[in-house]
Amino acid sequence: MSRYIIAMDAGTTSSRCILFDRQGSICSVAQKEFAQHYPQPGWVEHDPMEIWSTQMGVTMEAMQKIDARPEDIAAIGITNQRETTIVWDARTGVPVYPAIVWQCRRTAGRIDALRADGWEETIRAKTGLIPDAYFSATKLAWILDHIPDARERAERGELKFGTVDTWLIWNLTDHQVHATDYTNASRTMLFDIHRLCWDKKILEYFRIPESMLPEVRPSSGSYGQTVKFGGSIPITGVAGDQQAALFGQCGFQPGDVKSTYGTGGFLLLNTGERAVTSTQGLLTTIAASVGEDVQYALEGSVFVAGAAIQWLRDELGLLTNSPQSEEFCRQVPDAGGIYVVPAFVGMGAPYWEPYARGTIVGLTRGVTKAHLIRSTVESLAYQTEDLLRAMGKEAGLEITALKVDGGACANDFLMQFQADLSNVTIQRPACIETTALGAAYLAGLAVGYWKGIPEVEENWSCQREFYPSISRETRETWRRGWDRAVRCAIAWAKDEG
Ligand code: ADP
Repeated sequence: MSRYIIAMDAGTTSSRCILFDRQGSICSVAQKEFAQHYPQPGWVEHDPMEIWSTQMGVTMEAMQKIDARPEDIAAIGITNQRETTIVWDARTGVPVYPAIVWQCRRTAGRIDALRADGWEETIRAKTGLIPDAYFSATKLAWILDHIPDARERAERGELKFGTVDTWLIWNLTDHQVHATDYTNASRTMLFDIHRLCWDKKILEYFRIPESMLPEVRPSSGSYGQTVKFGGSIPITGVAGDQQAALFGQCGFQPGDVKSTYGTGGFLLLNTGERAVTSTQGLLTTIAASVGEDVQYALEGSVFVAGAAIQWLRDELGLLTNSPQSEEFCRQVPDAGGIYVVPAFVGMGAPYWEPYARGTIVGLTRGVTKAHLIRSTVESLAYQTEDLLRAMGKEAGLEITALKVDGGACANDFLMQFQADLSNVTIQRPACIETTALGAAYLAGLAVGYWKGIPEVEENWSCQREFYPSISRETRETWRRGWDRAVRCAIAWAKDEG
């Protein structure tokens, strides 16, 4: 019987491979960073061939480390940075342009034009997304508009489009399979998340030929076989990174929510079969699930989460490393009456104030370095709470527990503060590699490596829970202070000129 599942984790800055066993334990890991290219201010590109070669390299390395042979691998699951756009020649497999990365802002003007054309509501209703340059649609249109002959070749069926999952599958299967999954398709801004098909009207608007788009399949199911590792291994799990993380956290039920505290923060709330439309700027997206029926999720992001701790460390020089922030938080009984709002790049949901800027309010002569650090750490929790509250309200679901992952969830002070502030139980799993684990589960469930969701759930173990321990009055006082501080950050934008 095969012993492992391979999870390929194609991230924004590195390719990783993890081999999991039946208990969901990590048996081997390999990781390699790849180059980030910034050809112009605001532009971000990757070399698709480097994404492919590093992913191959780390997979071989992870297998070699524990002497795993192809017959030891039951299946491969893939999870990836979402939205990043690649177009390649169908015959040769050579990309016609570098991968345009989700962070790349080059098509912001195209989004303004789309709004001026009156398309915002249509996009919202069909794709669940608020039109933005992050998503694949305008990146793909940009390639067709700017690369000589690209549109003609695409119309002749000579070019293929894919997000990173699709690119890897195409290469792993020796150009046999051109497919993506529902979760990745739902981030392209071309996919109707209700009818589960590419939307012909949107394709027409961007002049994108449908023939270049991948076939869209359930996240857990067949994506062909690869013989790249010396024997045949099926590829049976695919999901975008945030959806994979929710799955890896066993967030299978409506009301289940996960919060990732990485450089940025990501919250996903499972809303079951209901696609909830947000009025507060949250995105409606497809969650990873097993079987043909799709599940939906509400998604919100915190632009600056762990990045605020990096700012304390790198720009202000107040910390030598990020974990040290916790020691400072514990040196003082509270934040000394100050609030740090790290709106370095504006504020996202539920405020949507792109011109808001970072603000510190309440400074007095007694404020120390420890207060400043504590208040910055607390800001991660406040921003998360803003999203949690908006999500719960819109979905009509009571949120009682929050499953956490990402680098900063290691901070016990932050986790306790979040539990207190949000009045929820925080559950920190033993395995915080939830993104890769989610991809592994999707793949393993499809081939019977795990027999069903209950068997997967048995693997989920909590490393530690944090319970709310403060009064309602205290919580409300904290929140009122934060709301006032946010108003200051926004007023800064509004008062300009
Ligand atoms: P990403 O995957 O987005 O690169 P990670 O999940 O690896 O990020 O998390 C790294 C982030 O978490 C960094 O911004 C770092 O400053 C922050 N971080 C890591 N450990 C801690 C900690 N103990 N306390 C607070 N922040 C932390």
